[in-house]
Amino acid sequence: MTARFSRQSFLGSTSESRLRELHVAIVGLGGGGSHIAQQLAHVGIGIFSFFDADKVEDSNLNRLVGATSKDVEEGTSKVEVASRLVRGISAIARVNSMESSWQEASVELRDCDVVIGAVDSFAERDQLERSARRYLQPYIDIGMDVHPCEGGFSITGQVALSLPGRACLHCMGVVRPDLLHQEAQRYGVAGGKPQVIWPNGVLASTAVGLLLSLVSPWHRASHESMLLEYDGNRGELRESAASQMLALVNCPHYAWAEDLGDPWFGRAALR
Ligand SMILES: [Zn+2]
Repeated sequence: MTARFSRQSFLGSTSESRLRELHVAIVGLGGGGSHIAQQLAHVGIGIFSFFDADKVEDSNLNRLVGATSKDVEEGTSKVEVASRLVRGISAIARVNSMESSWQEASVELRDCDVVIGAVDSFAERDQLERSARRYLQPYIDIGMDVHPCEGGFSITGQVALSLPGRACLHCMGVVRPDLLHQEAQRYGVAGGKPQVIWPNGVLASTAVGLLLSLVSPWHRASHESMLLEYDGNRGELRESAASQMLALVNCPHYAWAEDLGDPWFGRAALR
């Protein structure tokens, strides 16, 4: 193990090479995804694929890790900011930057070992998990929200680990028909949701810990899907009460063989 990673040798004697071979997708390189990219570069992940169609805007600078005022002036893409950040930390990292939606670059997404989603909408989460399930990829999702409450505002969030064959975001209640419906009703309403840097930092760090527990033997991970809930007003992050039951859930949402594999595989040859 090289000196660079000597302080994280508890991740396992082969962790340096194992992490270097790992291919991680990050979908959404905003406030959450940029934090995750930075940490994973420090940890020593070797291959990244980034998916985001947006360019850096002034309103992103309150939370976009690695972005500068110059990026706003020059209209740098968010994937380029993340790529620059990662390459500045790690000379070994290979970065594929897709300045597009992940749906437009689905072949690149299919080839990743793990998918991390830091996206804005429930519909997007749902579609992303659907894709990850199809290709048997572990999916890690982070999300935060700010709501008015009595006496001020409350910051809430979640980190979900969705493993193929185990409980999914629907089983966890993270994606629900009523939430998808409400979101569709609001579609097109002007103005972005409130977002700040510090809850994103907590959620991103937690997502990185979950990823490392999947790929290294640093503790006895349960290998079950998991839901952690964040209360930003109390500074609490805890396993959801429902999460205790997830090991018992037989997910009915992705139960069929036709939910798996590449729907287009072999179609060209049949034509
Ligand atoms: Zn399910």
